[in-house]
Amino acid sequence: MIIVMQAGATADQVQGVSDLITEMGLTPQPIQGSDLVVVAVIGDDRLKDGSKLEQAPGVDRVMRVMSPYKMAAREATGGERTRVRVGQGDGCVFGGTQVPVISGPCSVEGEQEILHAAQLVKDAGAHALRGGAFKPRTNPYAFQGHGEDGLKMLAAARDATGLPIVTEVITPGDVDLVARYADMLQIGTRNAQNFKLLEACGKAGKPILYKRGMSMNLDEYLQAADYILAAGNADVVLCERGIRTFENHSRNTLSLSAVPELNRRSHLPIVIDPSHGTGHAYLVPDMARAAIAAGCDGLAIECHPDPKHALTDGAQSITPEVLADLMRSLSRVAEAVDRTCLPLVDVL
Ligand code: PEP
Ligand code: MN
Repeated sequence: MIIVMQAGATADQVQGVSDLITEMGLTPQPIQGSDLVVVAVIGDDRLKDGSKLEQAPGVDRVMRVMSPYKMAAREATGGERTRVRVGQGDGCVFGGTQVPVISGPCSVEGEQEILHAAQLVKDAGAHALRGGAFKPRTNPYAFQGHGEDGLKMLAAARDATGLPIVTEVITPGDVDLVARYADMLQIGTRNAQNFKLLEACGKAGKPILYKRGMSMNLDEYLQAADYILAAGNADVVLCERGIRTFENHSRNTLSLSAVPELNRRSHLPIVIDPSHGTGHAYLVPDMARAAIAAGCDGLAIECHPDPKHALTDGAQSITPEVLADLMRSLSRVAEAVDRTCLPLVDVL
């Protein structure tokens, strides 16, 4: 069940509804939207009678959510789309009219390297900096990232450029550490069903960029998103980064129809990652433009000053020059679908 409070409902009324839910043996989870508060009911409420809740002061309506995901479902916010702000200020907000671009190298390679890359992606117009300090690698002998030193390097790049930083966390035990440095925590495709990690990220106190598992369907994906939401973190941004299919012209198959479908089923913003989605730098600009046309709320694009010498994912990394060019065409596509994708300098 989802209890939609009336516009202007007081904190006492929200508390009253929460107390009633607790009395029913269920757990209340209030979600503050930009206009309304809704209270999600966590637990098996199939046999519970919602009429007491309907009559409680401040309640507008009680809705039964039929989907197995409750909090990620579109109905959970009474139809309102969730906005997720990353960092300070209005430079990077997902789920509104702006379509922010997160960009940077696959991995944090060194202090000078990430500073240089950060300055270049900022100059190209990106709204946030990405870079992996903890890398989940298929091969155990491959570069695993600089760990906490990498987080410090990212923080220095944020100080130098003002760009918020987005970086991956790969174990539940590292969530607090990564959250101390990062403005947004990324959960990677290989960990998309690591439920203990999802729950830990639900308590991180920072927004989450949650990538779809490479072999997860959308039903499984939204159910798993509920692990983060139900643990108390409302700031979840979904990210489609391509799935495994028999097709092998690209590293993964980027499912762009997931964008309108997820928008239909969920209130959560959705980012497209055309870099991991294709595996080839030459495919990235076209898929980035197509993603905005399809209605995505943001992009995550790997960009490296010298892709040939990148430690990881060079083949799919575009150069800062290509990114700068791409930003110009992205803002034209965004305008055509009533969105904006202006370079950061024009946003602030
Ligand atoms: C990454 O963003 O560098 C990454 C490892 O992504 P994914 O989890 O989508 O493979
Ligand atoms: Mn990568």
